[in-house]
Amino acid sequence: MTQTVRAAPIARSRGSKPPTTLDTPVTYLKGAGPAAAERLRALGIERVADLLFHLPSRYEDRRRIVPLAQLKPGMEALVRGRVVAADVRFAPRRSLRVAIEDGSDSLLLRFFHFNETQRDGFVAGRWLRAYGQVRAGANGLEMVHPEYRLADDPSLLPPEPRLTAVYPTTAGIAQARLRSLIRQALDIAAKDSAFNAELPGLPPPDTLSALRLLHEPDGEDLGPLLVGRHPAQLRLLREELLAHQLCMRWLRRRSQAAAAARIETLPATQAALQEQLPFALTGAQRRVLAEIAQDLASGRPMLRLVQGDVGCGKTVVAAVAMLACARAGLQAALMAPTELLAEQHAHNLARLLGHLGVEVGWLSGRMKRAEREEALRAVATGERPLWVGTHALFQSEVRFARLGLVVVDEQHRFGVAQRLALRDKGRLGAGDGQAWVPHQLIMSATPIPRTLAQTLYADLDVSVIDELPPGRRPVQTVVISNARRAAVLERIGQACRAGRQAYWVCTLIEESEQLQAQAAEETYRQLRAELPELRVGLVHGRMKPAEKEAQMRAFVGGLTQLLVATTVIEVGVDVPNASIMIIDNAERLGLAQLHQLRGRVGRGGQASQCLLLYQPPLSDNARARLEVMRTCHDGFVIAKRDLELRGPGELLGRRQTGVIGLKIADPARDAGEIPMLTQLADRWWTQAPRAAQRLIARWIGDAGRYAQV
Ligand code: ADP
Ligand code: MG
Repeated sequence: MTQTVRAAPIARSRGSKPPTTLDTPVTYLKGAGPAAAERLRALGIERVADLLFHLPSRYEDRRRIVPLAQLKPGMEALVRGRVVAADVRFAPRRSLRVAIEDGSDSLLLRFFHFNETQRDGFVAGRWLRAYGQVRAGANGLEMVHPEYRLADDPSLLPPEPRLTAVYPTTAGIAQARLRSLIRQALDIAAKDSAFNAELPGLPPPDTLSALRLLHEPDGEDLGPLLVGRHPAQLRLLREELLAHQLCMRWLRRRSQAAAAARIETLPATQAALQEQLPFALTGAQRRVLAEIAQDLASGRPMLRLVQGDVGCGKTVVAAVAMLACARAGLQAALMAPTELLAEQHAHNLARLLGHLGVEVGWLSGRMKRAEREEALRAVATGERPLWVGTHALFQSEVRFARLGLVVVDEQHRFGVAQRLALRDKGRLGAGDGQAWVPHQLIMSATPIPRTLAQTLYADLDVSVIDELPPGRRPVQTVVISNARRAAVLERIGQACRAGRQAYWVCTLIEESEQLQAQAAEETYRQLRAELPELRVGLVHGRMKPAEKEAQMRAFVGGLTQLLVATTVIEVGVDVPNASIMIIDNAERLGLAQLHQLRGRVGRGGQASQCLLLYQPPLSDNARARLEVMRTCHDGFVIAKRDLELRGPGELLGRRQTGVIGLKIADPARDAGEIPMLTQLADRWWTQAPRAAQRLIARWIGDAGRYAQV
């Protein structure tokens, strides 16, 4: 079986336009030219169908204008008032301040990024409508960077008739454009009979009605929508979880039937590598390696999930397995979720395995052409056995000569579809028509509840590394109000002068990577001004790979003492000498993310600190989360508390919603649905195989793959 290669979008030609279906590339829609298509691709949108399932990440209620006197800190609100005055302040930070009033009270709007046209628009007496979050400022309530519109008459600034859907997007694709494309996609779906065929046993509404409601919410009772409990949401998340369950059954059946290379070199490799390591493997690491050794030698494809808390040493386990594979004359590929992490893995592996004369290749989506071609050639000839990269490793033009093992690190960022694509790569490599597939090892720091594992990983065996390397001390965690920022800075300055290194993580709840980057740059400038004697670095998602790498290298090498970063460093980054982590606005993050971030320190022998800075006032839930972080260090316990605190319907876990390749279902929130869906899957498995295939195609893609067992 071969990879599906999607045809490049054909140029539009007048007259001979093919019928637009859900499978048609988005470029056939109005408002999606080649440039837009490129950006949409970055959002995972290529075909019309992809637009349907590009769901709002949240909703904003702009249906009511809130009188200024009723505003409270923490609230998100639509307000309307007259501009009273506007001025630009230079201290403590350049900002534009605009005061408005509505007869009931007044409010200050504050902008840190603005241009002259914007500034000059705020003429006293004009009317203004703004939407944003209210917070307590030094002189009363304020809104920072609200979305706003100006007009000469309040009747031109009415509230919105319906909830406003907010989509995940990227620079250059405005919300309005997404909305218009999605509307076209919905119209196409309405005419597609296969799409609208009944799915037996799933309660209404049907798929199309559910999608319409989520994209264009209208009507009276939308409260449940805001907490993720609307029947339309339930319908889709049930479909999605069911699709995953069915898909897993196929995978398991298929892998039980498939053959894989017999690799018997692991024990000897482990012994050889141990000689090179500056530490002894923990008992848990050795136990998991023994399980892997057995799988690799079995002749059946290994499908093993290795779970272990942050810092337990999963990388070295992967390295042993990869090296064993190389020693058996096969290739192994390690795939990481971000460029930054892939780069680090490449360096670490090269360092770990360099003594043993094994070369590590590197493949990323952003390589220069010549470099990339050279890498592709070396992959295809098999001359280099070990490869590290991002998802670029499983694009269709990458052809391994003889791929024996795939390692996926921090798997929660990779979905089933990617796992399948990777597995198919192994088949391509089977020169003599022998249908063996590569072994797969999946590494995760995220503990997964059992019911969920049954749905999402029913095809996997699970190993747990339940022991940290000796000598680790828990990261001392303190929760500090932003009001004491000056004291924090002083402490950081002292610690760095004493030779320690620190991360300063900027958080921003924003769809846009660009705004995140801007915020980090701003903090970087500020910290450099406030701590002039320190060498400060900066890393964020918008930097060029070379720049990022240089920044990381400077930090690893101790050239910089304080690294300002966005949450790009959340996953996997390993700088043992860094022993202080400051998380700005920690109240904005969920427990899983906070735990991952904190796991970046406490990796060396020295005592480490984590400072959770928050912006008062704290909501009860945020206070409880920070308290969990302060008192608890065990990832499994934190995950459990996370579930309890989030409860059904809490939207806080928005970022986690994207995990494991799920588009809408939230593993934590929706665990209660699973028993019912398991029953349904049993029924479909025997009685409705066609419906099952349709559902898998809809949610995971490419149904043809699953039919082949
Ligand atoms: P994670 O499981 O979070 O991916 P890493 O693989 O990054 O953890 O390992 C964390 C740190 O612990 C690394 O610096 C690694 O070299 C070190 N390490 C791994 N195994 C051991 C061990 N058995 N003894 C001491 N240090 C170890
Ligand atoms: Mg790791």
